[in-house]
Order: sequence, then structure tokens, then C-alpha cells
Amino acid sequence: MLKCDFGDLKSEVERIDSAGLPLYHLDVMDGNFVPNLSYGAMVIERLRALTSTPFDAHLMISDPAKYLDEYIKAGCEAITFHLEAVPDPTELLQAIRKQDVVSGLAINPDTPIEAAEPYLEYCDLLLIMSVNPGFGGQKFIPEVLPKMRRAREVAGDRLLISVDGGVAAETIGLCAEAGAEIFVAGSSIFDHDDYKAAAGILSSKATHCGSAG
Ligand code: ZN
Repeated sequence: MLKCDFGDLKSEVERIDSAGLPLYHLDVMDGNFVPNLSYGAMVIERLRALTSTPFDAHLMISDPAKYLDEYIKAGCEAITFHLEAVPDPTELLQAIRKQDVVSGLAINPDTPIEAAEPYLEYCDLLLIMSVNPGFGGQKFIPEVLPKMRRAREVAGDRLLISVDGGVAAETIGLCAEAGAEIFVAGSSIFDHDDYKAAAGILSSKATHCGSAG
């Protein structure tokens, strides 16, 4: 959603929903955990009134525990925060689950998967950043692919593995092969006039490699 037209959210939502995209990935940035500032719970609440498609809030913020309730109240079905933002994510992951919201943990490209492993049992979703967080339109870092394989090995099929950053026609198949099943696409959808066609290209590449691999 970082790449969408914020001047006309209603039309954007209509375009996204008619493209059949299954999930809104909402990048929340606080200008502290990451240098940029994006939008917060208030904008998400307004979006919530426009669509029934599930929301995954990706909190790139320094103190996720402090704002958790706001994002739950805004109507997010999944809430993902960064391992790098908290000393121990266990309690917060449990608090998210307790509210019947999908609990997500995100890790930056430089964070090893081993750092997340002790907490995977409390996670419903692991978000593997394939660019450094904070900006849209960056190039995919292929060194993160083994993390997806390892997470799948450790946590099995129950864990949703999501990949975020530089997901495009050339990279999505690699991610699918490595075990990811949620592909966060920004530029590779929003830079095209026809979102449905762009999503169709991505989806065919993911399926093709998945079945070939
Ligand atoms: Zn994100």
C-alpha cells in the first residue's frame, strides 16, 4: 500500500479488490524504527470501512506494544511487528493471539533466522524482509531465501511465511520455491495501470516455480 494513490484511497481500494488481491499489507512507519513516516491506525480505520479484504499491518515502529490496541481496534486481521524492535517478543505475540488476531513477527535482512526460532511457536506468521525496511521500490536480497527454507523446516506447515521487499516476476518464484506463501508486492502491482494483469503475472510465476520445484 506504500505505493498506492493516497489522494484517492476509495478508487485504489476498488482497483485492488477488483484485481482479486487476497490481502492488504499495510506498512506502518514511525520515523524512528525506520527513517520514514507513513500512516497509522487512523488511516487504516478509514480503509477498513472501504473493504472487507483482510488487513495485515506491518508495524515498523519502535514500541509496538504501546500501540497494539489501536491497530486491533482499527480492524487488522493480522499484526506483524519487528523482532529488532523488542527485547523479547513472546508476550506481545501471545497478546495478539489472545485477541484472535494473527500474530506476526518480522525480521530484517541482517537478522539471522536463528534469532527468531525460539519465538516461532508463538507466531502464526513470519515476515521475512527481503530489503531493508523503510522505503518502497528496493531490490530483492537473495541471501534471505535460506531463511524461508529454515523457517519451514523448524515450524512446519502451520506457519505462514511472508516475504516483503523487491517481490517481482523475477523473484517471486524463488520465494515460492523456498517456502513462502504470502508475497508482499508493491511496485510490481502499483507501477502498472492494470493491477489484475500485474497480479496475474506474479501469481503465474509463483505457481510455475512452485510446481516445477
Ligand atoms: Zn511491509
